[in-house]
Amino acid sequence: MVNQDRLVQSFLELVQINSLTKKERAMADYLKERLAALGLSVSEDQAGESIGGNAGNVIGVLEGQQDKQAFLFSAHMDRVAPGENIKPVVEGDIIKSSGDTILASDDCAGIAAILEMLQIIKDNNLSHGRIEVVFTIAEEGGLNGAKGLDLENLQAKLGIVLDSTGAAGIVINQAPAQDEIIAKIHGRAAHAGVEPEKGINAIVTAAKAISKMKIGRLDAETTANIGTITGGKATNIVPDYVEIHGEVRSLVEEKLVKATEAIVNAFIETAGTENARVEMEVNRLYSAYHIKKDHILLQLVKKAGAAINLPIQLQPTGGGSDANIFNAKGIATVNLAVGNEEVHTVNEYIKISELVKTTALAVKIVELA
Ligand SMILES: [Zn+2]
Repeated sequence: MVNQDRLVQSFLELVQINSLTKKERAMADYLKERLAALGLSVSEDQAGESIGGNAGNVIGVLEGQQDKQAFLFSAHMDRVAPGENIKPVVEGDIIKSSGDTILASDDCAGIAAILEMLQIIKDNNLSHGRIEVVFTIAEEGGLNGAKGLDLENLQAKLGIVLDSTGAAGIVINQAPAQDEIIAKIHGRAAHAGVEPEKGINAIVTAAKAISKMKIGRLDAETTANIGTITGGKATNIVPDYVEIHGEVRSLVEEKLVKATEAIVNAFIETAGTENARVEMEVNRLYSAYHIKKDHILLQLVKKAGAAINLPIQLQPTGGGSDANIFNAKGIATVNLAVGNEEVHTVNEYIKISELVKTTALAVKIVELA
C-alpha cells in the first residue's frame, strides 16, 4: 500500500527544510499544515520556550474507534550540524547528502513514514484507534522537547518512536539511563617559575583522579566516558581551575548508580589528597526502559511484522531517544529502525526500500491495534 514515490518526495522535501535544534520553526509550520490536511486536529505546545527554541512540539490527533488501542507515533523535527541547506542525492535505492552536510534522515525518515502512514489510512479508509502524532523539538542534545511535552491532549498508553538506525524490523525495546557528571576542581594559582610550591595544580589533580577511573566499556550493559576537560590560562601559571564533563550509561539502574559513584568518589578523594577543592554535579539525563517480549506492544509489533513478512528483531541500544522520555511518562514505547546508517556524519544515507518496509510496518500496527 505504501506509495514509494510519494514517500520519497515527502522525505526529500522534509530534509530541505532547515531545522537545526531550537530552530525548528519552519519545520513545525510545515508539519502543522501537512497534519491538518490529513484530517488531524493540530496544536503546538510551549516546550520550546524554556529552552530558548523558536518552536514547540507539534501534536496532531486523529480520533478513532473506541475498541482499538490508542497509539502515539513520534519522530523528532530537529537535526544536528552540519544540517543546513541539505541537497539530497538519490542514487537507485540510496538517498545521501551531497557530501558536505548530514542527510537529516535522522529523523526526517521517521516523519516521512508517519505522514505516509496517515495518508494511507485516509486514502484507504482503514479502521484505526485514536492516533496521536507527536513531532518533537530538540531531541538532539538532551531529549528536551519530549521532556517538556504537554500531555494534556494525549491519552495513548502505547507508543512508537521512529528514530533508530539500521534495517527495517529492528525494534529497540531496551535503552540505557544516563547520568551526566560535572567536576569543577579549584586549586590555587601561583607563578609556575618563581614559586610553584605555593600553587595547587587543578589540571594535575584532575589527571590523577581520572587515572583512577574505569572509563570506556565497563561491562555489556554499562559505559563511562570523560568527554571534555577545560582549564588553565598560560604555561607560566599553575592552573587554579579545571572543569571536567563526563557521562555514565547503563541498562541496569544499580550499575549506573555504582559507576557514577565511583567516578564522583575518585574526584573527591583525589581532591582531598591534593589539597584541592572539588564541586561535583550529577544530573540524570533520562531513565532506562525495557519493554518485555510478552508486553502487548511487542506482541502487536510482532504480529504486524509477520503480516507483512518482515522479521522483527528486538535489540537493546546504548543511546537514548525520545522513547526513554515517553516511557518515563507512562507511555510504553519502542523505537523502530527507519533504514538509515552513519547518522550524524556527512556519510549518512538511507535505503529507500527499508524506509518503505518500516512505513508498511507502522500501517499494519495501526490496523491490528
Ligand atoms: Zn534521531
